Amino acid sequence: MDEGVPKKAARRIRHALLASFRASGGFRLVAASPWRHRHLLILCYHGVSLRDEHEWDPMLFVTPAFLRRRFEILRDNGYVVLPLAEAVCRLVDGKLPHRSVALTFDDGFHNFFSAAMPLLEEFGYPATVYLSSYYCLHQRPILGITLRYLLWLARSQALPAGTLPAQSEPVDLGDVRQRDRLAARLLVDVRLLAQDREAQLAWLALVADRLGIDWEDIVRSRRLHLMTGEEVAAIAQRGFDVQLHTHRHRTPREESTFRSEVLENRLIIKELTGRPATHFCYPSGDVDPVFLPWLRDLGVETATTCAVGLANVGQNTLLLPRYIDTMAQTEVLFEGWLSGAAEMLKWRGK
Ligand SMILES: [Zn+2]
Repeated sequence: MDEGVPKKAARRIRHALLASFRASGGFRLVAASPWRHRHLLILCYHGVSLRDEHEWDPMLFVTPAFLRRRFEILRDNGYVVLPLAEAVCRLVDGKLPHRSVALTFDDGFHNFFSAAMPLLEEFGYPATVYLSSYYCLHQRPILGITLRYLLWLARSQALPAGTLPAQSEPVDLGDVRQRDRLAARLLVDVRLLAQDREAQLAWLALVADRLGIDWEDIVRSRRLHLMTGEEVAAIAQRGFDVQLHTHRHRTPREESTFRSEVLENRLIIKELTGRPATHFCYPSGDVDPVFLPWLRDLGVETATTCAVGLANVGQNTLLLPRYIDTMAQTEVLFEGWLSGAAEMLKWRGK
């Protein structure tokens, strides 16, 4: 739904205030303050695009050039990027270095291996990858996001009824709402009709074919795949940290199912990396207080959320906030969060 004009205007005004605070040297003062010294900023990314994925979903994908620029800002402003586990230990012990930051990448996309890792290595930055293991084991494009991507690729088309399986009405794919509605309906259908993986893959190929999209190219480019087991093993060998994100990217409210999700995920990560995984990220930022004792029982040491903020010394380490950096965030806002100024000004919008 469209945001109201007053909300947009308020955001512009707050952004202008933040920009003038930066221009007057405010960010530098806050970044060097004892207050910022006691806080940790955990940055969150998802995918790094290999083609045009960022144009389709700029909240999920950033370009390599965008990520490079972010790393340059970290480097040029004296931020210290720490491995996540060390950063949280130091936070709790009150021993953080000045301007501390940790980097996290959710889901374990193939593009971490092919696009993010080379940049991280160039800058010498450690990072944690939260791996959801199902699509790592079963190598194919992720069903839900691939369907949305296919419909976006065909956004210039108006589909007569019956073009796609179970599409009973004409749909203008140029209209975002119609496109989203169709994606939601098709997804329900495919999940009901085809529980087996091969049938789902064939269904996606059929949708691509009916839309006139080169399906083989999408599969070959692996732009919507997670890393293979070999790629996960390779990043771990190169020093990157692979941690828990549940097996099927879900957070059931029933304890035994929740435990199975985490334990299966942990077993696969251990097999691939040879290391125990004891750090967790809530899939889709879905946090419920009921999960906390379950996570503690599972020996989970830290858990990150999608709540926006810097982590402070008294923080519950199973509810660590992060800053979700996307292509929608300006450099002023990014630096506002790095310095801590955005947190001090109680900034919560974009
Ligand atoms: Zn995720």
